[in-house]
Amino acid sequence: KQPLVKKTTPIPIALYGGRHAVTMLPGGGIGPELMGYVKQVFKYAGAPVDFELVDIDPKSDETNDLEYAITSIKRNGVCLKGNIETRSESTGVQSRNVAIRNELDLYVNVLHCHSYPGVPARQSNIDIIIIRQNTEGEYAMLEHESVDGVVESMKVVTQSNSERVARFAFEYARRNNRKKVTTIHKANIMKLSDGLFLETSRKIAKEYPDIEHNDMIIDNCCMQLVSNPHQFDVMIMTNLYGTIVSNVVCGLVGGAGLLSGKNYGDHYAMFEPGTRNTGTAIAGKNIANPIAMLSASIDMLDHLGHKQHSELISDALRKTICEEKIHTPDLGGTATSTEVVQRVIDHILQADIRAW
Ligand code: ATP
Repeated sequence: KQPLVKKTTPIPIALYGGRHAVTMLPGGGIGPELMGYVKQVFKYAGAPVDFELVDIDPKSDETNDLEYAITSIKRNGVCLKGNIETRSESTGVQSRNVAIRNELDLYVNVLHCHSYPGVPARQSNIDIIIIRQNTEGEYAMLEHESVDGVVESMKVVTQSNSERVARFAFEYARRNNRKKVTTIHKANIMKLSDGLFLETSRKIAKEYPDIEHNDMIIDNCCMQLVSNPHQFDVMIMTNLYGTIVSNVVCGLVGGAGLLSGKNYGDHYAMFEPGTRNTGTAIAGKNIANPIAMLSASIDMLDHLGHKQHSELISDALRKTICEEKIHTPDLGGTATSTEVVQRVIDHILQADIRAW
């Protein structure tokens, strides 16, 4: 079958003759194979995107390729990313995932946790937005051994970043017709750091009287998420709570292979699978679920304004996953990664795009 190259498609104004250049960072583990699926699907969907591939060697702690990756994202403005392993355990070596987020000031991470009809899961009808501070908190990576056997680790919370995240959350809630924002914290113990985060969100909440605001302690939040997740609408939290809560909710809706996450700053955007796993143990076995990375690529197309292409691909995904229930083993199915991707491509080829 010939790829559908839709020459008459109205393409949004973009760089380089109507096509967007996007940095692609496959990372380690299943990253490269998932990126291969994205490229295949984009080819058949005729998505007007050219990827600039930057391979970061997981075995090396050299920073040259990291600097190249950051330069490339600064040039293109947008990145699609897998997870980069940090092998080194020495304290001087920063996680390259953290370094990229910090250098680009991608201060907020947004995870739309939603159930997929037709996907077996512990909870159904979940629809929660997790908004996470993405550049500081417990990820400051400032640790030292003050005296033998005593290690100190700094959690950094700033008013300015807490304010940016809170404002982002309330704006997001207002624009997306959400009713409630819940701040997650441990201010009863970390009175200064989490106290500042909580106080700042309370202050910003006053500017949004149309949105309800409440708060919850992180440990109770984890219990409530498992027993009664439907009480949550939009949630905001610091960095480490964010990764834990994201993983809990992803577990509730079907695991690590389904949801995508968005990282935003004032200048750049980066899209990736929501739980940021490397998936080293399942790499090369043709069993990784391609949905999370394909969803990240759909988010990226939306961000670039290529709505028709993003809808074409998300519709094909929905038919494959929710209607035909072609599932990889992580969802209890028997399909290989390539069978799922082929079915998505079949739906793209069958789509009626004459109305475009
Ligand atoms: P690492 O040290 O490799 O980064 P991690 O904590 O990020 O580890 P992983 O082991 O990579 O976590 O992933 C956690 C679990 O999620 C594993 O069981 C993995 O197989 C599973 N997983 C992650 N991504 C996918 C996917 N796309 N499809 C199926 N399973 C996945």
